[in-house]
Amino acid sequence: MSIKTIFLDRDGVINHEVGYLHKIKDFQFINGVFEACLYFQSLDYHIVIVTNQSGINRGYYTELDFHRVNSWMLDQFHCHGINILDVFFCPHDPDDDCDCRKPKPGMLLKAKQKHGIDMNRSWIIGDKEADIKAANAAGINQTILVKSGHAIDSKNSNAGHILNSIKEVQSVIRN
Ligand SMILES: [Zn+2]
Repeated sequence: MSIKTIFLDRDGVINHEVGYLHKIKDFQFINGVFEACLYFQSLDYHIVIVTNQSGINRGYYTELDFHRVNSWMLDQFHCHGINILDVFFCPHDPDDDCDCRKPKPGMLLKAKQKHGIDMNRSWIIGDKEADIKAANAAGINQTILVKSGHAIDSKNSNAGHILNSIKEVQSVIRN
């Protein structure tokens, strides 16, 4: 028994990128996120968030700050009838050389093992090439890069699809 999942990056995909976001007042949902997630649920996808949070080990904010924002975000999803199966975050900075910071696939593989996720039937939606690399390394080949976060280099991207934002996913994810 395995489940299919939509993996979402957070900053730039779910909320507007502000750089080391750690305050609820700076968290602004991107237009269309709730509709997209309700659509995923209607297709029987689970939703898992995987986010690099190097601001923690860089000392810009604490793990508690992250959890505070995270709980608030999950509440907002709940209010819209959306259940997020799990959230994985990497607190490390690039010098830590961990195996969870994307483009490493650590968080995705952990999610796969913990929840019995069928990577072949799963998707990732990210705003950086690192999201696509992590996905491919974890056996996820259905990939979407959105332009709502960091500037992207579409010509040199390995993403399967490039969309303006998560609002447009219904044109790509159909079953
Ligand atoms: Zn890490």
